[in-house]
Amino acid sequence: MSDIIHLLPDAIANQIAAGEVVQRPASALKELLENAVDAKSTHIQVIVKDAGKTLIQVIDNGKGMSMTDARMSFERHATSKIRNTEDLFSIRTFGFRGEALASIGAVAQVEMKTRQSGAELGTIIVMEGSEVKKQELVSCPEGTSISVRNLFFNVPARRNFLKSNPVEMRHMVEEFQRVALSYPEIGFTFIQNDLELFRLLPGKLSHRILGIFGKSYQGQLVSCLEETPHLNVRGYIGKPESAKKTRGEQYFFVNNRFIKNNYLNHAVSNAFEGLMASDMQPFYVLFLEIDPSHIDINVHPTKTEIKFDDERTVYAVVRSAVKQSLGAHNVVPALDFSF
Ligand code: ADP
Ligand code: MG
Repeated sequence: MSDIIHLLPDAIANQIAAGEVVQRPASALKELLENAVDAKSTHIQVIVKDAGKTLIQVIDNGKGMSMTDARMSFERHATSKIRNTEDLFSIRTFGFRGEALASIGAVAQVEMKTRQSGAELGTIIVMEGSEVKKQELVSCPEGTSISVRNLFFNVPARRNFLKSNPVEMRHMVEEFQRVALSYPEIGFTFIQNDLELFRLLPGKLSHRILGIFGKSYQGQLVSCLEETPHLNVRGYIGKPESAKKTRGEQYFFVNNRFIKNNYLNHAVSNAFEGLMASDMQPFYVLFLEIDPSHIDINVHPTKTEIKFDDERTVYAVVRSAVKQSLGAHNVVPALDFSF
């Protein structure tokens, strides 16, 4: 009898973890954008080529990293965002799992340039399949620029599984829009194959919504605000007449994190009952602010599903918030022009 169990080498463990974290170019973009936001950037630039299959680059002007941290950031479970179990219950950042860069570095060719404010020189690191190919001092702008090239170059099955450029691009734009919506105070640009798709100036949420979805929502947005001891709801809903047949422009954010939740979608549609045909889908961008100890965001690596400890109350507050702003809108239509 001999023992047959052994620990997997890091490169393989990372590649397996990458399977969960990085399913397609859009998931890599999401992670990079979230890191840029967590780094307190005020401007974030996205450059992609070939729907992200050839290049996904995110350039931020955030706090940057020291040389040691730049290297550490590619280790699995390496994070600056939490330290102990208690921190898990009070998460205010997007990240905390410390898995994204390790995963991306395992399945792509990554070049990172980063410089902290005040540091004379920055660091360049080149990673390929979890291996450090280069690490040097370099002069570069303050902040961090990460280029992810040839995603899944070493995972042919995944690479072949990628959809056509328009489909992958749609997913990328979706992730971009979610982050851009939740941080209107950050400026964003998005360039695909040298074409500027978005240039979003920092400003108010209502401007960001128009910047992302176009002027067709001009004059169509009704603000929504409800504060309770348990949670606050704020944001905008579209007037019933701006509703569309297709679902899509419906966004919930919990503590600024985009989430999917059919139960809460239902709370909104329910509030619209009687105001539009039942097969129509209202527009909404709603932000729920709730004590982090009342939610669990660690349900899935992509963190788009979360658990509330009291889902029924959340439902009731959302429904009442939407109902109230619809009521206000019906009674005093002139109010709508104040946004
Ligand atoms: P997480 O975000 O869960 O901490 P990541 O693998 O995404 O894990 O990143 C690891 C660490 O690298 C982060 O905790 C952060 O300290 C650092 N980091 C990553 N991206 C940036 C960035 N754009 N600017 C500054 N620091 C960054
Ligand atoms: Mg992260």
